[in-house]
Amino acid sequence: MKVLVVNAGSSSIKYQVFDMTDESVLAKGLVDRVGIPGTTLEHKPAGKDEVVIKRDLPDHTEGMKLVLDVLVNPEYGCIKSMDEIGAVGHRVVHGGEDFSASVVIDDNVKKVIKDCFDIAPLHNPPNLMGIEACQALMPNVPHVAVFDTAFHQTMEPANFLYALPYEVYEKHKVRRYGFHGTSHFYVSQRAAEMLGKPYEECKIITLHMGNGASMAAIKNGKVVDTSMGFTPLEGLVMGTRSGDIDPAIVFFLMEKLGLSAQEANNYFNKKSGMLGLSGVSNDLRDILEAASSGNERAQIALEVYYNRVKGYIGKYVAKLNGCDCLVFTAGVGENGYDVREKVCEDLDYLGIKMDVEKNKVRGKEVDVAAEDSKVRIFVIPTNEELVIARDTYNLAK
Ligand code: ADP
Repeated sequence: MKVLVVNAGSSSIKYQVFDMTDESVLAKGLVDRVGIPGTTLEHKPAGKDEVVIKRDLPDHTEGMKLVLDVLVNPEYGCIKSMDEIGAVGHRVVHGGEDFSASVVIDDNVKKVIKDCFDIAPLHNPPNLMGIEACQALMPNVPHVAVFDTAFHQTMEPANFLYALPYEVYEKHKVRRYGFHGTSHFYVSQRAAEMLGKPYEECKIITLHMGNGASMAAIKNGKVVDTSMGFTPLEGLVMGTRSGDIDPAIVFFLMEKLGLSAQEANNYFNKKSGMLGLSGVSNDLRDILEAASSGNERAQIALEVYYNRVKGYIGKYVAKLNGCDCLVFTAGVGENGYDVREKVCEDLDYLGIKMDVEKNKVRGKEVDVAAEDSKVRIFVIPTNEELVIARDTYNLAK
């Protein structure tokens, strides 16, 4: 069976086509600036050159139409007809408390995705738009939703409840959910394979460090705790998000800067984090470069970043009562070896010792721990699309 994986954002559609007989990728691509003048589609068929198409497209339905046209194009497509696609897997950011696994999409599933608009206003509406556009164009195949929150649903109340009046959890579902679940799941499973131990017997700390970043503590295949919370704002310092702060700062700055609730939300999500602290960029590469040329704000921003990650490692070792391995993944985790080195510095008390030379790699699956390290340190490139394709295939077949 061939499976189409779709990740629809507010102005973009990412896609991949998998042949599930050997899990190979037949083609992948991105439609950018959907609904904004200057829409482009970049399509990369396996073993062929990339194709770029520029055509203004008003909405996700037109964007998906173009994707499907490209997939069956005799010159650069990857299938002869759309009938070859047996199922479509959709990335959905928020599944609330209703989904702890992927599901075939029906009206009820769409209603739950819609019910979560309130708590995931930036992500769930475009995700649903993508689903509806695809369903209209491919009404005869199963569509599957794979949720970023699902893997974290094993968290116990002790870790997912905030110390707020209990009614806000009951009435408004204010609790910690966690995100990047498909990535934490993929790399933790691979880590168990690399450890040579059953997944159900491992204590794993995963570090998904991209522009958005989160960590998870996983024990015996279940998430015990994760750093993102009610929204993806909590936890680590990110490209433009503050991560953990004293919540009183929000009220203080709303008053001082005269911000509305909406503006404050924007301030902590878009103007803070590494961008706000360094004043240089949200891209860690730029900040590393500025720091090495002597920019003090960039240097201090990096110190705050490393320090936060280290703090979470300590917290998670305590929560897991030990740890078999750390796993670094996503843009920074896979490529930023200087960042990995700093994060693992002076953790030998916890049994974490890096081989600094071995660590000088980018984007490869590798163990970079020193021989005598009690805890293994893995770099594992993430593959969220493959998890979506596998879940979709398993539910569709
Ligand atoms: P997202 O999916 O959250 O947008 P990615 O996982 O693609 O993010 O990661 C993007 C981040 O990875 C950027 O901040 C970029 O600077 C960082 N990155 C990429 N290569 C390196 C590198 N060699 N060193 C440090 N950071 C890197």
